[in-house]
Amino acid sequence: MISEYLRPTSINEALELLRRPKPITFPLGGGTFLSTHQQNDQAVVDLQLLGLNYFENKDGQFHAGSMVTLQQIADNNDVSEAVREAVRHEASINLRRMASLGGNLVCGGGFSQLAVVLVAAQAKIVLLPEGMEESFSSWLERRPASVSGKLIQEIHWNSSTQLALEFVAKTPFAEPEMVMAAGVDQNGMLTMSMSATEFPRIIVTEKLAMIKQKLTSGTGLSSEGMTGFSDYHREIANVLAKRLLIAVDSKV
Ligand SMILES: Cc1cc2nc3c(=O)[nH]c(=O)nc-3n(C[C@H](O)[C@H](O)[C@H](O)COP(=O)(O)OP(=O)(O)OC[C@H]3O[C@@H](n4cnc5c(N)ncnc54)[C@H](O)[C@@H]3O)c2cc1C
Repeated sequence: MISEYLRPTSINEALELLRRPKPITFPLGGGTFLSTHQQNDQAVVDLQLLGLNYFENKDGQFHAGSMVTLQQIADNNDVSEAVREAVRHEASINLRRMASLGGNLVCGGGFSQLAVVLVAAQAKIVLLPEGMEESFSSWLERRPASVSGKLIQEIHWNSSTQLALEFVAKTPFAEPEMVMAAGVDQNGMLTMSMSATEFPRIIVTEKLAMIKQKLTSGTGLSSEGMTGFSDYHREIANVLAKRLLIAVDSKV
C-alpha cells in the first residue's frame, strides 16, 4: 500500500526522500508498474516537477531524460526507426503515454527491445547523485540494486550511430523469444547485442567490414560472444545477424 505520496520540486529534495531508511521510498515515474506492484507501507516520490522530461539532440548525442514518456520517443522523427520500433513493442499506446523511460529501464523485462537496441547503441546512463555516465550495458547487469536510493537522470547515445533491430516472436506484438540489435558508429565499428535470457548483452564489437566477411564466408559469429546461449539461439543469432548487417550496411 502507498502510505505517502511526495512531490518534491528539486532533485536534492527527491534524493533526500529516497535515502530515508523508513518507510521504503521509490521514485514514481509514470506509475504503471508501481501502481500494480506494491509493498506494505511504501512511499513514492513523484518525479514530475524535476525537469527530467527532456529529449535533446546536443553535441552529436541524443539525451533522453528519465521522465520522457515512451510515446514521446515513439513520436520523435529524429530518432532512429529501430529505437522507435522498439518502443512501440514495449507497451500499448495508452501505457506508452504514461510510462517513463526511467521506469521502463528499471523494470522492463529481459526481452525489452528498447534495452537491446540501447545496448547496441553503446548508450550511457547517468545516475544521481553521482551524475557520472556509465555504460548502460554494464548497469543492466547489476539492476535493480544499482538504483536503490538513486535517480536515473538520463540515458544518452550517439545520434549518428546507425541502428537496426530484429527479433523472433510468434506474432509481431507477442513477447519475443529472442531479440537482437546492431549499431554502427561513425568509425565503422559494429556492436551487436542480444537477449535470449534475463538481460541483453553485447555479443560482438568489431569493425563492420570484418564481421561482414565472417558472416558471408560462413564463419559466423564468434562462439566467445555467444557463451551461455543454446545451440538453437546460436543458430538463429547467425540468421538475425545477417539481416541486421544488411539493414545497417544500407545506412552507412
Ligand atoms: C500491461 C503491461 C504490459 C507490459 N508489457 C511490457 C513488455 O512487453 N515489455 C517490457 O519491457 N515491459 C512491459 N511492461 C512494463 C512497462 O515497461 C512498465 O510498466 C513501464 O515502462 C514502467 O514505467 P513507469 O514510468 O510507469 O514506471 P513506474 O511504475 O513509475 O516505476 C517502475 C520502477 O522504476 C522505478 N523508477 C521510475 N523512474 C525512475 C527513475 N528516474 N530513477 C530510478 N528509478 C525509477 C520505480 O521506483 C519503480 O521501481 C508492461 C507493463 C504493464 C502494466
